[in-house]
Amino acid sequence: TKFVYDFTEGNRDLKDLLGGKGANLAEMTNLGLPVPPGFTITTEACKTYLGSGEEPAALRDEVSAHLEALEATMGKKLGQADNPLLVSVRSGAKFSMPGMMDTVLNIGLSDKSVQGLAKQAGDDRFAWDSYRRLIQMFGKTVLGVDGELFEDALDAAKTAKKVTVDTELEAADLKKLVTKFKRIVKTEAGRDFPQDPREQMDLAIHAVFDSWNTDRAKLYRRQERIPHDLGTAVNVCSMVFGNLGPDSGTGVAFTRDPASGHQGVYGDYLQNAQGEDVVAGIRNTVPLAELESIDKKSYDQLMQIMETLENHYKDLCDIEFTIERGQLWMLQTRVGKRTAGAAFRIATQLVDQGLIDEAEALQRVTGAQLAQLMFPRFDDQAKVDQIGRGIAASPGAAVGKAVFDSYTAIKWSRSGEKVILIRRETNPDDLDGMIAAEGILTSRGGKTSHAAVVARGMGKTCVCGAEELEVDTKRRRMTAPGGVVIEEGDVVSIDGSTGKVYLGEVPVVPSPVVEYFEGRMHAGADDADELVAAVHRIMAYADRVRRLRVRANADNAEDALRARRFGAQGIGLCRTEHMFLGDRRELVERLILADTEEEREDSLKELLPLQKRDFVELFEAMDGLPVTIRLLDPPLHEFLPDVTELSVRVALAESRGDANENDLRLLQAVHRLHEQNPMLGLRGVRLGLVIPGLFTMQVRAIAEAAAERKNAKGDPRAEIMIPLVGTVQELEIVREEADQVIAEVQAAAGTNLRLAIGTMIELPRAALTAGQIAEAAEFFSFGTNDLTQTVWGFSRDDVEASFFTAYLEKGIFGVSPFETIDKDGVGSLVKSAVQAGRATRPDLKLGVCGEHGGDPESVHFFHEVGLDYVSCSPFRIPVARLEAGRAAS
Ligand code: ADP
Ligand code: MG
Ligand code: MG
Repeated sequence: TKFVYDFTEGNRDLKDLLGGKGANLAEMTNLGLPVPPGFTITTEACKTYLGSGEEPAALRDEVSAHLEALEATMGKKLGQADNPLLVSVRSGAKFSMPGMMDTVLNIGLSDKSVQGLAKQAGDDRFAWDSYRRLIQMFGKTVLGVDGELFEDALDAAKTAKKVTVDTELEAADLKKLVTKFKRIVKTEAGRDFPQDPREQMDLAIHAVFDSWNTDRAKLYRRQERIPHDLGTAVNVCSMVFGNLGPDSGTGVAFTRDPASGHQGVYGDYLQNAQGEDVVAGIRNTVPLAELESIDKKSYDQLMQIMETLENHYKDLCDIEFTIERGQLWMLQTRVGKRTAGAAFRIATQLVDQGLIDEAEALQRVTGAQLAQLMFPRFDDQAKVDQIGRGIAASPGAAVGKAVFDSYTAIKWSRSGEKVILIRRETNPDDLDGMIAAEGILTSRGGKTSHAAVVARGMGKTCVCGAEELEVDTKRRRMTAPGGVVIEEGDVVSIDGSTGKVYLGEVPVVPSPVVEYFEGRMHAGADDADELVAAVHRIMAYADRVRRLRVRANADNAEDALRARRFGAQGIGLCRTEHMFLGDRRELVERLILADTEEEREDSLKELLPLQKRDFVELFEAMDGLPVTIRLLDPPLHEFLPDVTELSVRVALAESRGDANENDLRLLQAVHRLHEQNPMLGLRGVRLGLVIPGLFTMQVRAIAEAAAERKNAKGDPRAEIMIPLVGTVQELEIVREEADQVIAEVQAAAGTNLRLAIGTMIELPRAALTAGQIAEAAEFFSFGTNDLTQTVWGFSRDDVEASFFTAYLEKGIFGVSPFETIDKDGVGSLVKSAVQAGRATRPDLKLGVCGEHGGDPESVHFFHEVGLDYVSCSPFRIPVARLEAGRAAS
């Protein structure tokens, strides 16, 4: 294998091997742009080094050969005393990663070559400035010396000289500083600063390799789901100097505005400086536009290059450049990060410019970005008082009164107050408080902390790890920097999309994108409408190309109508249990308590018209579109009172001697129906099989509702879905009864209702015997929530709050399997069930309901395995439409 690539040998497609920076330096070199010559050591070399502790045997010679070639090109030798070549050693992984080693500039300088550099440039000050920078950077990042020691020494030198900026230090001052820096290295690192240039270079290369495994880098990778085995490349790049006087400088730029996508001049420039000064904020930069008056020639060339880059990458790029005595050099470029809104705007702008087509535009945006645009956000015109910032753990804008414990959160929210639950960190005991709160704020923990994981699961706004906020739960208050104290009851606002925390109420504005989907947003010329227009165009394209249909999980007409506005092409899951709650609970209680067949039939008879009315409304809302209705699924005890509450009530009543007959019976029933594992107990089709008349009542309600809609010239398309089937026999028995009821209703109505009967596939056994089950089912809907629970043996309600944080931190999975489908396990069952089902019944209709239906990555998977539709909550429908389009194009 080849471990070293000259910049002329690589290209942008080699990011795996050369890292992002190296691949793009090569790409720019080959575009003929002015890039200082250099070479890249591959990630493969890094992997070998990290695996064995030693560089690959061939690496040293390869580096030597490339170094010699570089020296020949440049006409000088690395660190040579009279005419030194200097290089930078730069890390560069496939994904840019904070926490990786910083770049070391000016490698090759030593006590001897610093003189040569001074002569070469005709500038003493510059040479000593470069040398002190090398010792500082090398000492800090390669030898592990505390950087503050150097900073302090530099400050001391400035104070002694009574100057404020380091450009005012003269050669003699800097020379003294170099001596001081070398002494710091000697005492702190226990060795002399290396004078051999090649040793400097090799040590720096190893330090870059090693920095792949620093704790910070590892943590970042876990949080961003970047694999740990990629390794980093190392770039060795000949130095160009922005610190050679006022006709030199360094800067950063974007080819267009990363916030709006608008074309223009966006960037910063710093005269007489080396790269790291810009980021370090040591001196004030000037807007890039001012470069035009400083150095017109370089400015024009830069504008030209930026255009070349945009046309070449066909996307927004960000760049780093340096000007050395009027000569422009390009030091880095990459496709630039942007806000979610800008992603949509830029994609359509590029289509309009003829740079990309619509198919490509669709790949430039993601469902996650669309989801971000759909959250309400804080009014950016509002005056705000920011008191801190943490990690944006779960998006949204939440406002409420500060509370510091779950109990208060629940109590206050019950009395109608909006609260923000503030904790140092959360644990499973906080769950109820988290549910009650508008949002959650913690001062500790990252993206995989308990608070973050649980909040995301609940779709609740969360900011975590806001470390500068000191949370004192005992005294029920929080202290912000500057001594601002937030007491219990004070209003705070948290932004889960940016991580910002504000004191007081910040007004919330609805998302213009949601306004658009709701049909309330009309064309105009302001900023929001430009975004809406971009979203509109990209959605239209996604809808045109996608194969997957998108349905909604909706239980009532109101949700159904909203889903329809959002583009739902039917209902994939209507949960009938919600129709058994509220004031109907009493009827359900009677059904459960029924001692005689008569009693049971009476209560069923009373439930029938109520159910029927629900369905009529639903069919009307979804006229012409399929509506999948799931027969009753949850265990019956869910419809009964809480056992503790009831026990207390009965005990109290008994002590007063006026025990209520009905309460006693209820309590007996609660005990009778109590299950250790209700999730695996009497529920789903099992209920239908042991409670006579329950499912047939529901089927009758559906059939009669359909008949009524038909009579009213509607177009009802009901699909009856049997939950939790494990074997075809269960389905056959239920089916037989259902067919009979349907036949009766049809005969009475004198019309064919075309009711389809199918099943959920949510148990491993159902998936494994899908071929048999398909004989009795006209459709399958994969219930991937329960399927994930049963395949993993995870009880969702328990595991997410207890050990998922640990699992995520240990990297056992990068994301909860309840959030993104576990392709290898659960997914492979889905895949084989699809094949077996279709083998039995080629026109078997296949869909998925459950959280995964609205998850971007999972949608791509469902597209690949050939499902007909996904079903998700109404709010996720646009995301599913977009991702289905991206999957298909
Ligand atoms: P980062 O990934 O932190 O931006 P870089 O490798 O890009 O690290 O380098 C840090 C700074 O040093 C940047 O401003 C870059 O432009 C500058 N720099 C890197 N290599 C050179 C070089 N050969 N000549 C001049 N400046 C350089
Ligand atoms: Mg850089
Ligand atoms: Mg289920």
